[in-house]
Amino acid sequence: MPDITAITAELHAAGIDADRVITDRTAMTCYGYDATRQSRPPLLVVLPQSTVEVAAALKTAAAHRLPVFTRGAGSGMSGGTIPTGAGMVLSLTMMTRVLELDLENFMVTVEPGIITKELQEAVAAHGLWYPPDPASLAFSTLGGNVAENAGGPCAVKYGVTGEYVRGLEVVLADGTVITTGNKCVKSVSGYDLTRLFVGSEGTLGVITKILLRLLPPPAARRTQLLAFADMGTAAETITAMFRRRLVPATIEFLDHHSIAAIRQELPFALPPAARALLLVEIDGEPETVDRDAERLRELVAPTAIAVITAADERERDTLWQARRALSPAIARIAPHKLNEDIAVPRASIPAIIARIDAIAAEVELPIVCFGHAGDGNIHVNVMLDKTDPGQAERGERAVAEIFRATVGLGGTLSGEHGIGNTKSAFLPLEWDAPTIATMRAVKLALDPENRLNPGKIFPPDFHDHIS
Ligand SMILES: Cc1cc2nc3c(=O)[nH]c(=O)nc-3n(C[C@H](O)[C@H](O)[C@H](O)COP(=O)(O)OP(=O)(O)OC[C@H]3O[C@@H](n4cnc5c(N)ncnc54)[C@H](O)[C@@H]3O)c2cc1C
Repeated sequence: MPDITAITAELHAAGIDADRVITDRTAMTCYGYDATRQSRPPLLVVLPQSTVEVAAALKTAAAHRLPVFTRGAGSGMSGGTIPTGAGMVLSLTMMTRVLELDLENFMVTVEPGIITKELQEAVAAHGLWYPPDPASLAFSTLGGNVAENAGGPCAVKYGVTGEYVRGLEVVLADGTVITTGNKCVKSVSGYDLTRLFVGSEGTLGVITKILLRLLPPPAARRTQLLAFADMGTAAETITAMFRRRLVPATIEFLDHHSIAAIRQELPFALPPAARALLLVEIDGEPETVDRDAERLRELVAPTAIAVITAADERERDTLWQARRALSPAIARIAPHKLNEDIAVPRASIPAIIARIDAIAAEVELPIVCFGHAGDGNIHVNVMLDKTDPGQAERGERAVAEIFRATVGLGGTLSGEHGIGNTKSAFLPLEWDAPTIATMRAVKLALDPENRLNPGKIFPPDFHDHIS
């Protein structure tokens, strides 16, 4: 049993104040959950304010052989922050500073606890733009975004978080501080350790500084909502856009279950026959935007049953309401959902949608699909009542089938939410044994005792082997 008194005394001696080391069970409750609704209380919670304090906390954890569970805002959707054993939860939410804004090189250096939207606002005040836009940007942290390689609607054109990370400061399991990357546009000196830590889900090190590249914001944008009579036509429209070299910033889609769930709440009329929607945003210079918006209208004229164009920002906001209203609205379809975020190569969207429809018929459960169709990332929600054993079994079967179909199409188990502990058993479906062995060698090189976020990413037998 870990000696809590000795551990807290060492943390205080390292300069971490008593009010930033929490051991009270009630006070710790809110550090043991995430958006998956799993929860487990930590042994203790530490709230560092600097890299030096993170390193001290990790050295103390190493000395007492404690597992360490790093967390940002706890909005993760794959159980990444859930303590899987009695360990130290390291909350980075007090490290929120913008350390440097480099207006010459279009770069910003931040601490990991800064909220994504606050970073966007800080750089926007200087005429610059940080594009990645996860739907959780109003509350998730940059550290969590980097550790999950978060993405959002504009990934179609602008890419995901990792494409903006140019360097990191990371504290390793034994408390060693390392620096990766730099401000050079071209930089090929040694291994690209930055990419290794992006998406590592708190299993390789604790990120304490993040160097990001920025862009000038687009000058104009046009938003259009396209309604179709069936999902197949909507899916074909996405591939047709790219075949014509139309590259919107965003293509979000909603299937017929989603439409039924929100129809009553929409502030605009939709044709009764609408069974699939695409929300398309085109951005760039005003002339190009107008031209591309017109090309899109021509493209969909023979197939869309309605096209609604936003005339101004207020109307744009109204169109986005349809997408934003979705998550709470589908909760009315069934009491529970198994929520996955598969991704397939864009051209395989029609195939995966057709397969998911067939799986829904096989298991006799509604499967609601919506998401970032432009980049092939689909939120698949198997709707069910988990208290009904038959539905629970059929739901799990549907998820396994969807994963198999996704991988069969060259896709991936997770486009943005990560593997965590919710999908770890399925990792061997996507990666063969030598590839997982290579990942495992990397993990053990950096964290030989498997103390950083144990129980995550790797299938259960990996963790049994270590402990
Ligand atoms: C309503 C809602 C909408 C969402 N929409 C999106 C979306 O559009 N796109 C998307 O990608 N995700 C989305 N998510 C999921 C989630 O917001 C993202 O995964 C986000 O990046 C997590 O950030 P966080 O600060 O909450 O991290 P946490 O949940 O606290 O942590 C997530 C993972 O990162 C690790 N971690 C956190 N900070 C650090 C650090 N400093 N160093 C090392 N590891 C660290 C943790 O150990 C954990 O494994 C959504 C979630 C919700 C609830």
